[in-house]
Amino acid sequence: MHGSSAALHLAKKNLKVILIDQGSGGRNSSKVNAGGLRQLNRLQPEIPLAVEAIKMWKNIKELVGDDCGTAFDGQVCVAENSMDLKKLHDREIRLRELGYRHEELIDAHELKKLIPSISERCIGGLICRSDGFGSPFRSTFAFQNTAEKLGVYFRRNSGVNRIRKNDSIWYVTTDSGENYQAPIVINSAGAWGDQIALMIGEELPISAEAPLMMVTAPIEFFLKPVVIGASRKFSFKQAPNGTVLIGGGYRGKLNRATGETRVDFDQLRLSAQTVADLFPHMKKVPIVRCWAGIEGLTPDRIPVLGESGIARGFYHSFGYSSHGYLLAPLTGRLLSELIVDNKPSLSIEEFSAARFNPPVQSPCDR
Ligand SMILES: Cc1cc2nc3c(=O)[nH]c(=O)nc-3n(C[C@H](O)[C@H](O)[C@H](O)COP(=O)(O)OP(=O)(O)OC[C@H]3O[C@@H](n4cnc5c(N)ncnc54)[C@H](O)[C@@H]3O)c2cc1C
Repeated sequence: MHGSSAALHLAKKNLKVILIDQGSGGRNSSKVNAGGLRQLNRLQPEIPLAVEAIKMWKNIKELVGDDCGTAFDGQVCVAENSMDLKKLHDREIRLRELGYRHEELIDAHELKKLIPSISERCIGGLICRSDGFGSPFRSTFAFQNTAEKLGVYFRRNSGVNRIRKNDSIWYVTTDSGENYQAPIVINSAGAWGDQIALMIGEELPISAEAPLMMVTAPIEFFLKPVVIGASRKFSFKQAPNGTVLIGGGYRGKLNRATGETRVDFDQLRLSAQTVADLFPHMKKVPIVRCWAGIEGLTPDRIPVLGESGIARGFYHSFGYSSHGYLLAPLTGRLLSELIVDNKPSLSIEEFSAARFNPPVQSPCDR
């Protein structure tokens, strides 16, 4: 989705864009994520971007012609004990000191009013009332379709395997033997972003994981906000069709080279146990589907976004570390501003590739 967002925004600025994908585009992550649109609990460098991204999602139809199944009934991080509550309270204070007001501590009474079926063990929470969720599948298609309508050429099912530079022009070769050339390249290869970076001689650290998801059978409507855990791995939302989507941090097995994942049922059991603890009425609800996606994580859990640390005209947008769905409409816009106008409307310096490597000359620039 970050690739098609960049393509879409660049096409809007009248650049000719080719998007090359080794698959159909977002099969492992953008199309199959949990759909959480969350400013809540964001790492500090990402907060300004998260706040701006939510504004874009609220008007997403203007950008991509579809509301992408979005709903904004808030997200709440629930405390199960006094330590959790203190952690959330401290965060609220820290954010207020930084000038943010979007996260607000609520007590057990307010929590119960919002979510009557939540277990008595939950003693409060931190809520962001403007958060919500969307449909990842619809969103990814909406971004791809809009980019295509704006003239972006999609080359699908053909992986990039070589990149070199000559006289300020990048030469990109694919598995099917095609060659493309352009003055600008954006690496938006998700969990494989480090491999693309290595093709220009830039070493960027990323670890790939296979986050697990499961979906229940449809049940009577009982939940509006998205619920996440303060100390337990847990995210929980009810879709408009009544099914409940459960994720939040347990991992399956992954072979990154082949892109294959396997569901780990022991991990899913832990996830199901948390659900039963927090929502006792869910104990007997059947799980109808489960899967493991693939996500690339950086060591500091914030993305690599901006120009390469070693080569001009080469940009990165990857490593969204399990929370990149929210940021996708915005990162493409910021990259297009950086590339075309020389300055993004929000600072992305903290996401620079150079934070991992002292700047040195690329073999491509020599
Ligand atoms: C199960 C799960 C739940 C999640 N839940 C949330 C959530 O609730 N909220 C949230 O904000 N985020 C969530 N995320 C994270 C979010 O989905 C990702 O951060 C985001 O989708 C990453 O988008 P991307 O475009 O960088 O990567 P991708 O969608 O993985 O796209 C990268 C593309 O690069 C292509 N590619 C790779 N190598 C090559 C190559 N050599 N040549 C050509 N193409 C290549 C791939 O085929 C792929 O299509 C979740 C992720 C998962 C897996």
